[in-house]
Amino acid sequence: MATNQRYDIFIIGGGINGCGIARDAAGRGFKVGLAEMNDLASATSSASTKLIHGGLRYLEYYEFRLVHEALSERELLWEMAPHIIHPLRFILPHQKGMRPAWMLRLGLFLYDHIGGRKRLAATDVLDLRQDAASEPLKTGFSKAFEYSDCLVDDARLVVLNAVDAAAKGADIFPRTRVIATKREQEVWRIELQNQAGEVETVYARLVVNAAGPWVDAVLGNAFSLPGVHNVRLVQGSHIVVPRKYEHDRAYIFQNPDERIIFAIPFERDFTLIGTTDQDYMGDPADVRITDPEIDYLCEGASLYFKEPIRREDIVWTFSGVRPLFDDGASKAQEATRDYVLKSDGGAGKAPVINLFGGKITTYRRLAEAVMKQIETHLEKRGAPWTTSAPLPGGNFSLDGFLPIAARLTHQYPFLNNNAAERLIALYGTSAFDWLGDSRSKEDLGRMFGAGLSEREVNYLVENEWAKSADDILWRRSKRGLRMTTEQIAELEKFMAKQPGCTAALPEDIPVLPKYGRA
Ligand code: FAD
Repeated sequence: MATNQRYDIFIIGGGINGCGIARDAAGRGFKVGLAEMNDLASATSSASTKLIHGGLRYLEYYEFRLVHEALSERELLWEMAPHIIHPLRFILPHQKGMRPAWMLRLGLFLYDHIGGRKRLAATDVLDLRQDAASEPLKTGFSKAFEYSDCLVDDARLVVLNAVDAAAKGADIFPRTRVIATKREQEVWRIELQNQAGEVETVYARLVVNAAGPWVDAVLGNAFSLPGVHNVRLVQGSHIVVPRKYEHDRAYIFQNPDERIIFAIPFERDFTLIGTTDQDYMGDPADVRITDPEIDYLCEGASLYFKEPIRREDIVWTFSGVRPLFDDGASKAQEATRDYVLKSDGGAGKAPVINLFGGKITTYRRLAEAVMKQIETHLEKRGAPWTTSAPLPGGNFSLDGFLPIAARLTHQYPFLNNNAAERLIALYGTSAFDWLGDSRSKEDLGRMFGAGLSEREVNYLVENEWAKSADDILWRRSKRGLRMTTEQIAELEKFMAKQPGCTAALPEDIPVLPKYGRA
């Protein structure tokens, strides 16, 4: 940390919204600092369903503004990050007694037409009696709709925004909590506490509170505004099971309670099933999947799959808390998913901008909206610039994924096709940077298991702020799904010896508790 450093903008929270704003602001020439109390993306932004989507279901709640904005972001984000974002087709089986076919057709017609779709394929009607999509399903489904959205590696989207922000001059402080702020007329005095418990002070002309589920807690604790209530915390959980079917499309299933759940091809050998939607009252750091949620997801998916999903099939679970703006909706699933910005200050009073709600899909648009407010409070620096600037490693064309993976195996013949595709899916063209002058597998150093090498780990420590085995296994990659307990223990020992990476954190900093191995 840099004591007494002065910033134009200081951001609280290293989820997708904080990191997206940091990137946009740094790219416009503002001096930016960002503090994240745990690892980047350690909260909601790594616990999503991982869709870059318009949100078909939100049409039922007339959220046309949100759906339009989100749909129009899909192709733009895909172009910015074709290594971590991929188009995906979704099969929506028509089920008697659920939403009628005309309603699904109308919703999908809007979905296809209100978002400026150009490259993503349009909706199709499937005859399930003729289509491989029916193979894993129970008999009796004859008709389905198939439409497009995109899948994203959510945690990597966050970290790549942070990497780009830092490349543009932002200071990123992971494992640093904002513990207090004080307005000193036109400047904020901000106290930061790092992992070792040390407290330092920085100053900023404007603060952005992007603390997600903690946004009200930050207002209460760090801004001394107790009792504020802006967000409704809504828990959502997922289960991961061994791959349920051979094809590469996803399913969207309608449940009898009118909710929907997705079954999505995940990390090549797995299927991701989620999510739930239930009000959450506890500390967001403690969120974990509950037994009733597991039952709900297993039962919901088993209404459709002919081989039921059983509890004992589950290899991993994760759970997150949506920080939804509290619009007074009666049911959790009806609360708006749109974002709301509220600012306070100006005219001699240093401003603070608080963010509520939002989606991964709309983070770039949210950042632009925040920049508009920032520029009214501070001064105008640069024009919006993020629509066409690739994220690190994403500087290749939409059909360039396989050719680049082939180039990687050509340049590094000791990598097989699977390994090359894995590395391009994580790092894109940056994989060439850290593989560097390696000539053989031995040049990658120690192998920790599941293809994870010492060279890759070092790259993540030096360039992506990885500080613990969890950071690497569950956020910078998903190698945790494939490594044994012993291999993980070895990686933990290795990480504990790296400079700046300690196993222990001060007791009051919650340590990434939401991941569970079943
Ligand atoms: P977060 O990611 O929670 O980041 C806030 C950060 O602030 C945290 O990392 C926290 O540690 C930090 N922080 C808090 N207090 C302090 C402090 N005092 N000092 C420093 N740091 C602090 N969106 C989609 O577009 N597509 C989806 O498929 C999708 N699926 C979802 C499924 C589920 C189950 C959930 C829960 C959400 C889903 N979302 C989805 C929504 C999306 O994940 C969230 O809107 C988004 O991740 C919120 O990002 P954020 O940056 O606001 O919050």
